[in-house]
Amino acid sequence: MNRLLTEEQTKMLESYRDGILEINKSMNLTRVCDPEEFWYKHVLDSMACVGLDCYKDAKKVLDLGTGAGFPGIPLAVFSPNKEFLLVDSVGKKLKAVEGEAKNIGLQNVSFVHGRAEDLARDSAYRESFDLCVSRAVAFLPVLLEYCLPFIRVGGHLVSYKGPDYAEEIEASSKALKKLGGEIISVESAGLENKELEHYMIVIRKTSPTPKSYPRKAGTPSKSPL
Ligand code: SAH
Repeated sequence: MNRLLTEEQTKMLESYRDGILEINKSMNLTRVCDPEEFWYKHVLDSMACVGLDCYKDAKKVLDLGTGAGFPGIPLAVFSPNKEFLLVDSVGKKLKAVEGEAKNIGLQNVSFVHGRAEDLARDSAYRESFDLCVSRAVAFLPVLLEYCLPFIRVGGHLVSYKGPDYAEEIEASSKALKKLGGEIISVESAGLENKELEHYMIVIRKTSPTPKSYPRKAGTPSKSPL
């Protein structure tokens, strides 16, 4: 997967990694402290979606619950012609990520601090993204309520999940119906290491999300659809 990145992109992501690991000494951004482990668990894993058609076709991409910048930052480095918005509900994490993105000269990324449930009601964001990517944020029915309102009809959500994704899919049929989405495929992230067995659930937005969703902040996770 390293071959996907140019030498310059690799350098940018290495300095991003080093910057985040430095900040991580005084702020809890990631549990992964080893630079090599950081490279494959965060940087390369984030890139898993770049071969998907829905990724290639997207111009405006949202990373919901970006944490220390994943998958959004590696994708933004890889795709300078796409526009990325990184959202997280924890402001100080997002500030740290924003600072490091500036340090490596990233120009195609914006940042908004807030909860999905609130931002998705803002007309500046609602149904305006071609693609939403999200890793390790919430159980799928909850994630669907966070993400689908942001996506235009015909756009996609790529949810990065572990090997137990089938249960999550099973629990999602009601949410998909109510929010206007359908699962079109499940793709393997293609890493051979079992410890890193990851999948991407690809969901297509099929009809507009009713105005009543997402419900108020906290409700989607307390009582999933
Ligand atoms: N995507 C990153 C971080 C995962 S941790 C990674 O894979 O490494 C989950 C992140 O989602 C946290 O940073 C948390 O603050 C954020 N988050 C959880 N619920 C959210 C919500 N409702 N709206 C916005 N961000 C949320």
